[in-house]
Amino acid sequence: MDYQKLFSEIAVESKKVEAIGEVASYIPELRNVDPDKFGIHLATLDKQNYGLGDYNERFSIQSIAKVLSLTLAFELEEGELWKRVGVEPSGTPFNSLVQLEYENGIPRNPLINAGALVICDVLVSRLKNPKQEFIEFIRNISGISSIDYCDRIAESEKLTSYRNAALINLMKAYGNITNDIQVVLDFYFNLCSIEMSCKELTHAFLFLAANGANPVTGERVVNVSKSKRINAIMQLCGFYDEAGEFAFKVGLPGKSGVGGGIMAIHPGNYSIAVWSPRLNSKGNSHKGMKILEFLTTVTEASIF
Ligand code: GLU
Repeated sequence: MDYQKLFSEIAVESKKVEAIGEVASYIPELRNVDPDKFGIHLATLDKQNYGLGDYNERFSIQSIAKVLSLTLAFELEEGELWKRVGVEPSGTPFNSLVQLEYENGIPRNPLINAGALVICDVLVSRLKNPKQEFIEFIRNISGISSIDYCDRIAESEKLTSYRNAALINLMKAYGNITNDIQVVLDFYFNLCSIEMSCKELTHAFLFLAANGANPVTGERVVNVSKSKRINAIMQLCGFYDEAGEFAFKVGLPGKSGVGGGIMAIHPGNYSIAVWSPRLNSKGNSHKGMKILEFLTTVTEASIF
């Protein structure tokens, strides 16, 4: 694959995508980002790197972090995890309450807010210092020691997070949250506040393109089966109620966040991250989806 040529084509294509959609504003701090930022970075298993635009600039990765919290919880909790959270697409918005009541406080999957809150509860139970140990985990798998939480964003989310508070209270009532609600919520807000660049994201996620082993250090992050399952969950549940659309148009497992980032994996080949803060009506990056669709279309290479 001539990725250099591909990135030249993406440079041309990215200028053609209409600047439609708005930045997320329900978390006040997220409003402060320039809506027209655009960055993309691809890292291959044979250690090649290709970047374009603002790919070195850090942004709020928001729900993309939920894949990494799932990864760590899956390592710590194994099969028990799936008694508390499902692996089915939700077909509802990321912060929906409706389904949770029908389904007795068991969230559909670990990538919607309710499921991610259960995962945070697991990590709070299992780790001595969850905040510190979780960021160390990301620094370790990415090899980048300066990756950190953003207190401003965590605080801003805390002040406005009425729906997340409702979700966790409902699950507590069903007995699916074991720790103190405020402690779990605080950890969740921190998790969502992590800032990384597209380049850093591709390095942190490369293990999912490599059957669970970090291709740079050779260290195993998760076993082959877990890597398969995490990719499967991303494929089915990574884009809120637009997961089908992403599979249909792009055809890669991935995860988006309301900060405008999208992370995607081509197992056996590469990891790719794109950032463009204008979101479509489903909360996914408008331009990010268009560019990834372009990429898998011109390369004729998706997982299907
Ligand atoms: N921190 C956001 C929230 O809980 C995450 C949303 C997202 O990126 O999906 O509302």
